[in-house]
Amino acid sequence: ALRSGTGPVLVYGHKESGMLVGFLGCLAAGRPYVPMDVSIPLGRIERIAHISGATAVHFARPAPAEIQQCLRNLGIIEVGVPEAGAAEYLAREDPDRIAYIIFTSGSTGDPKGVPVRMGSLAHFVHWLSTEQRLVPGRETVLNQAPFSFDLSVMDLYLSLTSGGTLLSLTADLIARPRDLFARLYESDLTVWVSTPSFVRFCLADPAFGELSLPNLKRLVFCGETLSVATARALLERFPKAEIWNTYGPTETTVAVTSLRIDETICAKGAVLPVGYPAEGMRVWAVGEDGYPVAGGEVGELVIAGPQLSPGYLRRTDGPTGFGPLPNPGGGSVFAYRTGDRGHVTGGLVYCEGRVDRQVKLHGYRLELDEIEHHIRALPDVTDAAVLPMLRDGTADYLAAFVGHPNYGDEPEEDFARAQAIRQCLSSDLPAYAIPRVFRFVSALPLTANGKVDRGRLARWLP
Ligand code: AMP
Repeated sequence: ALRSGTGPVLVYGHKESGMLVGFLGCLAAGRPYVPMDVSIPLGRIERIAHISGATAVHFARPAPAEIQQCLRNLGIIEVGVPEAGAAEYLAREDPDRIAYIIFTSGSTGDPKGVPVRMGSLAHFVHWLSTEQRLVPGRETVLNQAPFSFDLSVMDLYLSLTSGGTLLSLTADLIARPRDLFARLYESDLTVWVSTPSFVRFCLADPAFGELSLPNLKRLVFCGETLSVATARALLERFPKAEIWNTYGPTETTVAVTSLRIDETICAKGAVLPVGYPAEGMRVWAVGEDGYPVAGGEVGELVIAGPQLSPGYLRRTDGPTGFGPLPNPGGGSVFAYRTGDRGHVTGGLVYCEGRVDRQVKLHGYRLELDEIEHHIRALPDVTDAAVLPMLRDGTADYLAAFVGHPNYGDEPEEDFARAQAIRQCLSSDLPAYAIPRVFRFVSALPLTANGKVDRGRLARWLP
């Protein structure tokens, strides 16, 4: 059924080996796959199924009846996937065919589907596995991120193409630290791939270090800022291992820059560089007009090269970030404006925040506009503003201010209403995107030019 049909295939589950079988089966059958982690709520699954144009689903575990029903109503058929071989498909297949579609947060309220071509995936995997000098048949690679996040593409394909083992941590195991550490320490992990947030969580265990993980040769990070403090702690705990920082958005296939971080680099400044571009990829900074800024000057980072997605699925509203830009070498080039503020100094790329309202919350990419959109759609809500609350300079949790006619001029807490809103949001948003704190007020304060006064809102919270 997989080979005879066409169109993308949803692969539903969590960390089962059946997910991998589904991915490889789709690659072999020439159909894009859409990883659907079990944490994605029903309303969002429905949107993703619609936007991706999926025609089939492979269940790596049985799905709840309402999900099965919803997919059946959309005419999506269930397919079994035959056991598939290894990842030589990457090199053999048409480079322009779509390998997978990963969905990220979208500011309009709909998740954004990012299709990634076989050629982009092959380019990324070839670059990183060569650079990381993986030993065929000898590696055990950590999988921390669910397969619906593009960070997992890094560990999944590094293990597949090196003939290694993937040590996949389930959400349930991560929630039980004692069992988690026992599982990690009994493994013969050689390559660590995670967000910096996850490794910070692990560093809280005093036993997390070389003695417990004696085979660990490299730790590779992506997805958010790796701080100097975290890098130093890791250099101390794993003196014989290599620490790598890599950077890139889903739109450019996981990562496009990398750098080994050592004490010399840590000593150079408060912000670690994210690395040098992969061979064949180009990263530079532009001003608002899209023209390159001078080397070392801060601008918006843009990326060009074979790892670029062709653009979001079914998105016709507003600018997407993909398009032709003035080429630093003359003429123009198809590039992706990342929304990341940064600079390129001496060939090294630095990423220092955002030009928009996208945030990273414990490694998860979120558009605050998307969350506000869903709160505003609720009955009686007149306006909403969501703010990231910071701890040590990074987002720790979200707070929502909700304009509602039942309240006064000063923000109030209302546990019952907050719970009701959380409940409504949970059918469209994943749990990590639901604000922890809610405050209700008759109207949100505005600045002199009529925009929501987010500075004042932030001062309303402790
Ligand atoms: P995602 O598409 O979920 O991988 O998120 C991509 C975004 O994560 C980038 O546009 C950056 O804002 C951020 N990011 C990724 N890697 C790094 C890094 N090494 N340092 C700082 N920010 C990063």
